[in-house]
Amino acid sequence: MNTSTDDPIVRLEDVHLSFGQTQVLKGIDLTINKGDAVSIIGPSGSGKSTILRCINALVTAQSGRITVAGIRVDQLARESERIALRKRVGIVFQQYNLFPHLTVLDNIVIAPVRILGVARAEAEKTARELLDRVRLADKANAYPGQLSGGQQQRVAIARALAMKPELVLFDEVTSALDPETVGEVLWVIRDLIREGMTSILVTHEMRFAEEISDKVVFTENGRIVGQGSPQQIFHDSDNPRIRQFVGGLS
Ligand code: ADP
Ligand code: MG
Repeated sequence: MNTSTDDPIVRLEDVHLSFGQTQVLKGIDLTINKGDAVSIIGPSGSGKSTILRCINALVTAQSGRITVAGIRVDQLARESERIALRKRVGIVFQQYNLFPHLTVLDNIVIAPVRILGVARAEAEKTARELLDRVRLADKANAYPGQLSGGQQQRVAIARALAMKPELVLFDEVTSALDPETVGEVLWVIRDLIREGMTSILVTHEMRFAEEISDKVVFTENGRIVGQGSPQQIFHDSDNPRIRQFVGGLS
């Protein structure tokens, strides 16, 4: 089911970002509507992670306008405002970084309790529902070290969802996993997208991107050099660089 709308939740306008002398984003324009699933693909070092980090205020652009869920991210001045933004935008990284000394359940419960002030019993109830959703209901009392990479990544997704975000960013969340556990993580993300979660995925899983995306964005050297439907990017692009990059996909 396509849950895309005409209601922008993310808008980047002419965003420029440098680290020291290195220009990393060179004028990014990107609009993402509520309910969209958008994949960002492109070569390593082209700025994909930096785009996600801009949206979540983990890095600050030098110029341009960034609006996320009605918040002018480029104008945030205080750390408290950045935290308010991050409550609404979940992010899942390649390295899942669970707390090793906490159980799976406590890993999921800790932020809602400490940051949102949710009552422990209520946070646990939500956490168990989320564990069910990521198909790990039986692992609530396990420790991260007892789980496979794919299982840990699914806990990390549940942890992000526990904050009830309006938007979730996924940065190469399957790149560090053993091939046999990639599929179970993609299943969980596919379910979320089908339920209408607005999602931005940086991914090298081309077939998955083709299957689940409303829009695909191709970045190269700090610029968006192509964006469109999966059909347009994976099959009909006349840009030789995009054709070469998605090459194997016929
Ligand atoms: P991608 O996710 O597409 O691989 P990134 O957004 O991570 O690309 O990085 C884009 C460019 O910015 C790369 O050249 C990278 O080396 C550089 N870069 C990223 N983060 C930093 C940083 N904190 N300091 C300096 N350079 C950085
Ligand atoms: Mg990256």
